[in-house]
Amino acid sequence: METHALNLSGRSLIGARTGDAKGKAFHAVNPVNGEKLEPAFYTATAEEIDQAANLAADAFHRLLSVPVSERIAFLERVAENLTAEGPAIMERAMLETGLVLPRLTGELKRTVGQFRLFAEVLKEGSWVNARIDRAKPDGKPPRPDLRGMLRPLGPVAVFGASNFPLAYSVAGGDTASAFAAGNPVVVKAHPAHPGTSELVANVLKKSVEECKLPEGMFSLLFDAGVEVGVALVQHPAIKAVGFTGSASGGQALMRLASRRPEPIPCYAEMGSTNPLFILPGAMRERSAEIALGLQNSFTLGSGQFCSKPGMVFLPKDKSPAFEQSLKNGVSNLQQFGILTHGIAGKYKHAIEQRIAEGRARLLAGNPENAHGDAAAANATVFAVELDELLSHPELGEEVFGPTTLLIHYGNESDLLTAAHQLQGHLTATIHGTPEDLARSQELIHVLETKAGRLVFNGYPTGVDVGHAIVHGGPFPATSDSRTTSVGSQAILRFARPVCYQDFPDEALPPELQNANPMGILRIVDGTFTRS
Ligand code: NAP
Repeated sequence: METHALNLSGRSLIGARTGDAKGKAFHAVNPVNGEKLEPAFYTATAEEIDQAANLAADAFHRLLSVPVSERIAFLERVAENLTAEGPAIMERAMLETGLVLPRLTGELKRTVGQFRLFAEVLKEGSWVNARIDRAKPDGKPPRPDLRGMLRPLGPVAVFGASNFPLAYSVAGGDTASAFAAGNPVVVKAHPAHPGTSELVANVLKKSVEECKLPEGMFSLLFDAGVEVGVALVQHPAIKAVGFTGSASGGQALMRLASRRPEPIPCYAEMGSTNPLFILPGAMRERSAEIALGLQNSFTLGSGQFCSKPGMVFLPKDKSPAFEQSLKNGVSNLQQFGILTHGIAGKYKHAIEQRIAEGRARLLAGNPENAHGDAAAANATVFAVELDELLSHPELGEEVFGPTTLLIHYGNESDLLTAAHQLQGHLTATIHGTPEDLARSQELIHVLETKAGRLVFNGYPTGVDVGHAIVHGGPFPATSDSRTTSVGSQAILRFARPVCYQDFPDEALPPELQNANPMGILRIVDGTFTRS
């Protein structure tokens, strides 16, 4: 343990400078054995928050004149440096999260891949949505020369989640997309993995220095509570927020961001219950197979995924065989490791509460939690009648951990009623035969209004990072259903359109110049063209 601690300062990173050890101290805890991990980490002071935000504002103005080729080089350098430091980062992440090496190796690959993806997006260049309406001096009325494109928003405050210490944290998708759009980033470190956060922050700092970018491009702030994050979101230099985490945290930051003297966008990606609908034909043909697929999906990562299927609608008359398969499978499962003792405690409380309320029946799993010092939990499955869910919609709220709720429906019109009453989710899944699907067009249309990603005959856990993916959805899954936090379109959250009227060619950004020196796809006088 000490060897890991030696490389860590426990201090915030304010641009190129290491912060002070004056604020309240806290430690990471190993969830596997409850041991306190060294060193102590120190809450950033009010001055440090102010300095980090002001350095970011200064960096932002300098970045506006940095050629895109230098931003590409920076993203690629981060990818290289993260890969090089990967073993040390993962060693500490294992201690702080209990996640195993193969899982962290996959997550590191995804994290590095996100930086490479955005480097490619910048090289291709068309993401800026360049639009040119050339002047028509003889028009009635005459038209000026108008050229618009996306430009960066300004310094972004980033909050990561506990369940992805790499891919949704210090150098996660929010940070990569904010950098790619040309913005500096100030990260509020997650207190569950501060050492991992510091090691990743050092990689970003090194990359900033090697690429000779302004130091304010990146800062990292530690916090023992929520005060630093609250102050950061309210700082006038911050122009947008990227948050991944709980509904309560996300909604608190949304409120703060909108009530500032200058309101700013807060892209909060929050929890979701991800409804899964089993239609009658699929139930008839593949009951045992779907039960196994569901079991694997709701327990993947100990059920600590925002895309976990947490509510499953199934036809009541065909449910017994399905439920028996699930019962058999779940009874053979070992106890699951949980990311933090806090999350394990919340899971235990939610399961006990569900049992005490008596609305949902415990169908499978042992609700008793693990003994000993480990943060751990047993998988559980509950079942409820649809009417009960409709009159107690809180049953459909996210329980973070390895549990799911089966909901019995009578006929397909009941299913439509249920779908209409759903809140916003990240995903919605349908299991059906072609005949089921042909009869379910209305259900699909309703689900399109409820989720960011519709899955057919599959499972929602596992999010591919590419160009078409949507990892978003209507409130309360996210704060803004028009965006995605994963994939190349995530860059659009941190940019805004700016139009240049009658500017001389040489004073325009290259993307808008007559010769189209970057060869990007543009709309010129209403026609898509690369010329
Ligand atoms: P969390 O407790 O909300 O923490 C996220 C971050 O926000 C932490 O840094 C936390 O700091 C901070 N925070 C929370 N409440 C705050 C407040 N009121 N004011 C200021 N800062 C606040 O979430 P988590 O437990 O780490 O993550 C699990 C949740 O994330 C699950 O619900 C999961 O579904 C969701 N998730 C969503 C996605 C997605 O893409 N939609 C991806 C992964 C996870 P403190 O801990 O110091 O409070």
